[in-house]
Amino acid sequence: MQKKYLLAPGPTPVPPEALLAMAMPIIHHRAPDFLPVLESAKKGLQWLYQTKNDVLILCSTGTGGMVGSVNNFLNPGDDVLVVNGGKFGERWTKICQAYGMKVEEIIVEWGYAVKPEQVETSLKKNPKIKAVFIQANETSTGVYHDIKSVASVVKKTDALFVVDAISALVAHDLRTDEWGIDVMVGGSQKGVMLPPGLAFVSVSDKAWKMADAAKTPKFYFNFKKERENLAKNQTLFTSPVTLIIGLNAAIKMLQDEGLDNVLARHAKLAKATRAGASALGLKLFPKENPSNALTAIEAPAGVDGQAIYKDLRVKYGITGAGGQDKLKGKIFRIAHLGYADTFDVITAIAGIEMVLKGLGHPVKLGTGVGAAQEILMK
Ligand code: PLP
Repeated sequence: MQKKYLLAPGPTPVPPEALLAMAMPIIHHRAPDFLPVLESAKKGLQWLYQTKNDVLILCSTGTGGMVGSVNNFLNPGDDVLVVNGGKFGERWTKICQAYGMKVEEIIVEWGYAVKPEQVETSLKKNPKIKAVFIQANETSTGVYHDIKSVASVVKKTDALFVVDAISALVAHDLRTDEWGIDVMVGGSQKGVMLPPGLAFVSVSDKAWKMADAAKTPKFYFNFKKERENLAKNQTLFTSPVTLIIGLNAAIKMLQDEGLDNVLARHAKLAKATRAGASALGLKLFPKENPSNALTAIEAPAGVDGQAIYKDLRVKYGITGAGGQDKLKGKIFRIAHLGYADTFDVITAIAGIEMVLKGLGHPVKLGTGVGAAQEILMK
């Protein structure tokens, strides 16, 4: 027998409270029993998103929410700006291009965060830009883009500000209304502590006005129709009833903890993970703004990052993540997101120590764990 530990940046572990709630018999999405369920999910998401805006609930993975955030607000030929600092920034570009938008990219070197001035300069240079797309967390590099500062720059223009917060939600403070985030995408299988299958998208009044003028083809992800249904506590098509019931249980746990405490927990787990890795002499991949959702760690010279990822999983049952694309073999990633606490970090750091030693890298067992413990006990 080998016990499994899921420490990947999605899917993440689902707490027993949500699992048990999802074991309920299926209810019908058009029957009266479902209306209070959706009503509660709608309010819970507004709480989590710190917004009075509508937060649509879609039956899809996060990428579906990203797709809908492009074709519901823009027209083919529109100029858009994409902050591309990794695999998921790249995805915004691909989606916008698929729908015929003219994409201008700010290419951010992997491991770095975009400077708000870069966004400001691009917006000044091209006043025709209709929307700015960015990740809060670039999950492929473990970097957090400073959404508050970028929002303050975009707010000065007419451009729509669209944030992929799929891996950042719950781990980072994202003040939708206060900062002026027009559209923010989330997903169920990350900080929200649920299985994959739901995407969430908040939509501001400014974005709804743009939706009125958007002629890009759409059918499944039709946000205006979703909004009409949401007002009646329904979804456009068959609701993923089980996941929405789980969502209510998961949000209740977050509400019982309190948003400030949830955010502080993630900050502490991230700090402890970084301290543990650094104490082992490992370099963190982000050169600035490391994420609170996951830690990207460079494989030491002469050690294959994929071997670390694989040995963690195969020898010790710990599923983290490797590096993507050009980072494959160079980094490995450990998440501390959602249903994560003290001993998830201890498990991860202890596992890394054992794997590195097993791969012949000099490690004094306990060094990283001790450094993490110092932070976790504070
Ligand atoms: N954006 C970010 C920042 C992500 O981390 C992910 C998933 O890892 C996605 C988008 C894609 O989400 P999904 O796989 O749920 O479609």
